[in-house]
Amino acid sequence: MNDDQGALPDRLARAIALAGPMPVSQFMAAANAHYYATRDPLGAAGDFVTAPEISQMFGELIGLWCADLWDRAGRPDCHWVELGPGRGTLAADARRAMGKAGFDPAIHFVETSPTLRAAQADRVPDATWHDSVDTLPTDGAILVVANEFFDALPIRQLVATPAGWRERLVACQDTLFLPIAGKGVPAEVIPVPLRDAAPGSMLEVSPASVSVVRALATRFVVQGGALLAIDYGHEGPLLGETLQAVRGHGFANPYDMPGEVDLSAHVDFTTLAAAAQAGGGVAWGPVEQGEWLVKLGIDARAASLARSSPDRAEAIVADRARLVQGMGSLFKALAVTAPAWPQPAGFA
Ligand code: SAH
Repeated sequence: MNDDQGALPDRLARAIALAGPMPVSQFMAAANAHYYATRDPLGAAGDFVTAPEISQMFGELIGLWCADLWDRAGRPDCHWVELGPGRGTLAADARRAMGKAGFDPAIHFVETSPTLRAAQADRVPDATWHDSVDTLPTDGAILVVANEFFDALPIRQLVATPAGWRERLVACQDTLFLPIAGKGVPAEVIPVPLRDAAPGSMLEVSPASVSVVRALATRFVVQGGALLAIDYGHEGPLLGETLQAVRGHGFANPYDMPGEVDLSAHVDFTTLAAAAQAGGGVAWGPVEQGEWLVKLGIDARAASLARSSPDRAEAIVADRARLVQGMGSLFKALAVTAPAWPQPAGFA
């Protein structure tokens, strides 16, 4: 670890000393940028495990979903995009399945971490990397997949107080970071049904996620395309704090050790669907991941994998159960399509 990496808490403390307490979103953005830039957090030896790392079935079914949608959209010229591709495992599995279905698009990754870009290059050497969705190609449709991406984007936390809603800020005392109630926010930014919430209630919003979904939907209208977003979350807006820190497969304090723990928050799928509609797209779902995978045929895929590797049959059954039952109801899938595109599979 070089000095610059080791110094994130000091840099945050200095920024707070100079400019005052910072919004949770600014703290989360800085902490996660450092966290992902400096490690591969996935897998048993890391901090958490994601669906594509549990089983190849996950990426393969997503690949088939993409190939089917592309086929029924009339087989347009099309780029395939993944947001926050982690190790590139999902992309490699999806690409294999898409190839078998006769769909061989150019692959684009939106990824900010140099460490993870290197891991992705091992699995998909011919990908094109982007820092944000802004530079994605404009020639042809874009089919975009995001698994556990939106949960990592920064959130603002708004807290109801007897004197109105306030934005939660992160202050620093000596070397300790702590949340405090900050500036007032205008009532207009709070959804009408929640405006009179009891003091102490918290609302989390992710303007960064909203702007990505809206920008993609706007492109779908012009270029054609679709987004598949899978994440843990709820149909909102809901009151309650979901910001969490994970380290070594356990929970940690989100304000301790910024940059050394994974910060994430539940995704509000209702708000993302509204952002898609505001950009002109059509939103489908959310549906529970387990139900969606079953509709896409995970049972047939598991059976065929077990037939070709009988020694792994038990593990395949366990992986399927983890994807369908274990993660299956907290995790949800939301799709957004271009208005002229057909209904995506699994969202009936
Ligand atoms: N999709 C992968 C990895 C999920 S972890 C999987 O399911 O295994 C979150 C991913 O999003 C990582 O690749 C991380 O580096 C990336 N990421 C986080 N914040 C980002 C941002 N603001 N812009 C682009 N990528 C980001």
